[in-house]
Amino acid sequence: MPKLLILLLALSSVSAIAQAGAASTKKEVDNAYPEAHALYVDLHENPELSGHEIRTAAKLASGLRSLGYEVTEHIGGTGIVAILKNGDGPVVMLRTELDALPVEEKTGLPYASKVHAQNDSGEDVPVMHACGHDLHMAALMGTAAVMAGSKETWRGTLILIGQPAEETVAGAKGMIDDGLLKRFPKPDVAVALHVGNGLSAGEVGVVAGYMSTNADTLRITIYGKGGHGAAPQTTVDPIVIAARTILALQTIVSREVRPGETAVITVGFVHAGTKDNIIPDQAELGLTVRSFKPEVRKQLLAAIARITRAEAEAAGAPREPLIEHRESTDAVFNDPELAHRLKGVLESAIGKDNVVNSEPHSASEDFSYYVEQGIPSFYFDLGGADPQKHAQAVETGVSLPSNHSSLFAPDVDPALRTAITAEVAVLRNLLHGSAADLRKSISPQSGVKQPAR
Ligand SMILES: [Zn+2]
Ligand SMILES: [Zn+2]
Repeated sequence: MPKLLILLLALSSVSAIAQAGAASTKKEVDNAYPEAHALYVDLHENPELSGHEIRTAAKLASGLRSLGYEVTEHIGGTGIVAILKNGDGPVVMLRTELDALPVEEKTGLPYASKVHAQNDSGEDVPVMHACGHDLHMAALMGTAAVMAGSKETWRGTLILIGQPAEETVAGAKGMIDDGLLKRFPKPDVAVALHVGNGLSAGEVGVVAGYMSTNADTLRITIYGKGGHGAAPQTTVDPIVIAARTILALQTIVSREVRPGETAVITVGFVHAGTKDNIIPDQAELGLTVRSFKPEVRKQLLAAIARITRAEAEAAGAPREPLIEHRESTDAVFNDPELAHRLKGVLESAIGKDNVVNSEPHSASEDFSYYVEQGIPSFYFDLGGADPQKHAQAVETGVSLPSNHSSLFAPDVDPALRTAITAEVAVLRNLLHGSAADLRKSISPQSGVKQPAR
């Protein structure tokens, strides 16, 4: 037989196997879909705030138990861990968040949330799954069902976690502090996805390397000397210092950071003063600072401190400003080797045209806490936009509602089906062979803790 013909036959049988695989997965996903969709609607109608995901966690725990998973509840508060062991092989973790947001839903959907709850300050707030975590949970349950029903297709240990309080960046840390990685097998790889309107439902997006930003929250207190608004010569006006500081801070990104690097400095609030004819004693600024690279992060934080102190000194302030580092989250770093490999896996599962190269996000994510613990990560984007509306948005330049909007409403049917198909494909690919082989295939720089800030 001519070599070319042998090659063609071999190639066509490979693609036939891939097609047969995709067809059988479609059937498995179709079988799991109705229950996953019903769960989605139920969770969407009954959202719970960060750290208060009691009903949500119980619902997932009982569902996973009935599928044969070994479930432990109350890890780091309301967190759950579900394990399915299936012989020797790698340990792979898939994570969903459990929490919703204090947003009043305005989607007009028949299953829109009407829930109100008390927040941690005791105020009554509306609650909505405005970030799509309900879709992530429904996908995880669909995936759990497919994996439990097809143990001949994979080997190793599958760990599914329901993580509380992602929106307050407390849940991942809470679960790790409560022994997630000591009481249960430590994952060789951690996987998660996030739905958004940046891509059409039916598509997924992959980024190799930095996927989300480092986020730092700063509180700056500028001290002046208060007095009568008509006698400025007796005062040091902290409002004027604050104004100059805010403008000078905006020169860090534009003048100090190398063009092309990602860096954001936003002053999100200014609090000062009580009355028009009083010069106050102090002014407060609230900042969020975003970056990808650790060295850029260090540069931004150092420049903010330098400029803030120098502006106060230039004005003759009686005290150096106080700069408090309130919160910080590291960037999520996707292992590049894993990302390349799994991009191919996703292309076979949902079609080459449906897998795009995503842009890194300027949002932040506490999935980075798992990466920080030395677990290589694959965190990918799931399209949520109605394809027609998405095309229209691209044409007109008017964006669709983003995550956290009161109008955020993913196109559930294609998005949820795609999520389950994608998760199953990724897990099956990772859960075969030996753990050592999987680890060997991962880049050495993956899972390296970022330098201290
Ligand atoms: Zn969110
Ligand atoms: Zn989210």
